[in-house]
Amino acid sequence: LLDALIDQAALAIERVTLAEDVDRAKLAAETERLRSALLTSISHDLRTPLASILGSATSLNGYGPMLDEEARRDLVTTIQEEAERLNRFIANLLDMTRLESGAIRPRSGAVDPSEVVGSALERGGRILANHRVEVDLAADLPMVEVDAVLFEQALFNLLDNAGKYAPPGSLVTVRARREDGPEGGRVRIEVLDEGDGIPPEDVERIFDKFYRVHAQDRQRAGTGLGLAICRGFVEAMGGTITAGNRRDRHGAVFTLVLPQAADAPRLEEEAACG
Ligand code: ADP
Repeated sequence: LLDALIDQAALAIERVTLAEDVDRAKLAAETERLRSALLTSISHDLRTPLASILGSATSLNGYGPMLDEEARRDLVTTIQEEAERLNRFIANLLDMTRLESGAIRPRSGAVDPSEVVGSALERGGRILANHRVEVDLAADLPMVEVDAVLFEQALFNLLDNAGKYAPPGSLVTVRARREDGPEGGRVRIEVLDEGDGIPPEDVERIFDKFYRVHAQDRQRAGTGLGLAICRGFVEAMGGTITAGNRRDRHGAVFTLVLPQAADAPRLEEEAACG
């Protein structure tokens, strides 16, 4: 957490220093403003779910026997959902600090992308419980050369976002295809949703730490860290991640491109073999 704060402050210093005339007082003020804005935002993100948990637990404790079955279940569900949210938030903060301190060293090996898609979807089951999910994996997907844990985490963060930013009942699609790139075979994995999509001017910035398109949107509490982590993980594995909007309908599309494992046959080799 501290790392993330300091890093952000350092970035601000760099930006101000690069400006033509460096005013030290302005520089210190800017760093201070950033520090306090970050602290406010982070403590808000910790406190909102905690307040919900505390409120629900207090009600259960005080009025439990007087409540009907449904009301009790609602309170327990709130506790569970808010605890999960807190858990994800803390996991994100830890991932970010690990990434920035260089503690993350991918352990690459040949991994079956379909398996990772399956396990990420299983983990995201509750988050996407109110969405329809379509999985469209090509039958000829080769193994990819990645760290399975980082790959699953990156994919999970994308599914988590689809769950947050696309309306309940809408369709979330995970699609994977093999393709040939200039440096060898690759696998392209897309997560498509039917939400509002991303303003074109923000498609790059959403990968910045703490950047959120609707920062004031507290309904869908988030940290602005998920995509920065995704990009950090994917690039550490030699892949790429980009965001865009769908052409066929409203919605965002996130594309991961991962290198094919070395011993997997290239497309044209296979074709040559008949
Ligand atoms: P968080 O979701 O915690 O805010 P992220 O880094 O995961 O942080 O995402 C950054 C921002 O990108 C989000 O706040 C949101 O504005 C935008 N975003 C991410 N995923 C989607 C999506 N599937 N549809 C629309 N906007 C998205």
